[in-house]
Amino acid sequence: MAQLIDGKAIAKTVRDEVAQGVSAFKAKYGRAPGLHVVLAGENPASVVYTRNKEKAANEVGMVGELHKLPESVGKAELLGLVRRLNADPAVDGILVQLPLPQGVPSLEVIEAIDPAKDVDGFHRSSVGALWTGHAVLVPCTPRGCMRLLREVGVDPAGQSAVVVGRSNIVGKPMAALLIEANATVTVAHSKTRDLPAICRQADILVAAVGRTRMIHGDWIKPGAVVIDVGMNRDTDGKLCGDVDFASAERVARAITPVPGGVGPMTIAMLLENTLAAARAREAQRG
Ligand code: NDP
Repeated sequence: MAQLIDGKAIAKTVRDEVAQGVSAFKAKYGRAPGLHVVLAGENPASVVYTRNKEKAANEVGMVGELHKLPESVGKAELLGLVRRLNADPAVDGILVQLPLPQGVPSLEVIEAIDPAKDVDGFHRSSVGALWTGHAVLVPCTPRGCMRLLREVGVDPAGQSAVVVGRSNIVGKPMAALLIEANATVTVAHSKTRDLPAICRQADILVAAVGRTRMIHGDWIKPGAVVIDVGMNRDTDGKLCGDVDFASAERVARAITPVPGGVGPMTIAMLLENTLAAARAREAQRG
């Protein structure tokens, strides 16, 4: 049976590390790092995510603040808030929760965030920095996946890695990080031919698809490490991943469960990014 990669426990370790870093930051600079989360509208999942992010920031000693805007918010108002946060020296991290209400162009809003405060790592300059090997602020979910690999002693160097999914939020940055870590990377997507055969080549398999239990045990190379990013509801309403856990755990060497795998790492990495942004800004100030 595969080793279970306990994302909940690892995320707790990361949060403790960040809390220590925040204490040292406060002692040095006389202020706490500030994470500002913007929620536009009332998408139920977004309401929960943003509340959790604000709470997690405060729990590690940062100033976490949630800015709630109505569903009817327009582009100008949203951009106005982002600009105010950009100009506020007490703000180190700005996160605009996606999706935005209909009619508000997410790209324009994300591009308006000061890259130095882009703790989600979605700004084009953060993406460019990542792909040129100069990243400071890396998208939280892929960053969390890399930390999980590290925690279970997996060095991607020289290994064959397959990432299923090519979104800007997960698949593409995941591929960039694996390349940076010297893996040989294949990125698969909905147009990929013979996905099971591609997956079977992977020493490290990352699933970021959004399809309930799509990847079966017989798609997995014996001894592979499987990271399941998927967060889906099955027909019984149960939270599950993109990997069929029951069959996969019989083949893999190590695997993340859903829930309790990648999920808890995302917020932990957001906190790490916020602390990194705060430190970089203070260092810049000299
Ligand atoms: P997107 O919908 O943006 O991207 C899904 C990707 O999967 C696309 O590249 C798509 O291909 C590919 N895909 C879809 N169907 C297939 C298929 N049948 N075979 C192969 N590839 C396919 O999703 P996200 O990247 O945002 O999220 C992926 C999953 O991860 C979701 O379940 C989401 O809920 C979860 N998630 C979890 C997070 C966490 O914290 N744990 C954070 C973010 C996401 P194409 O490009 O060709 O359309």
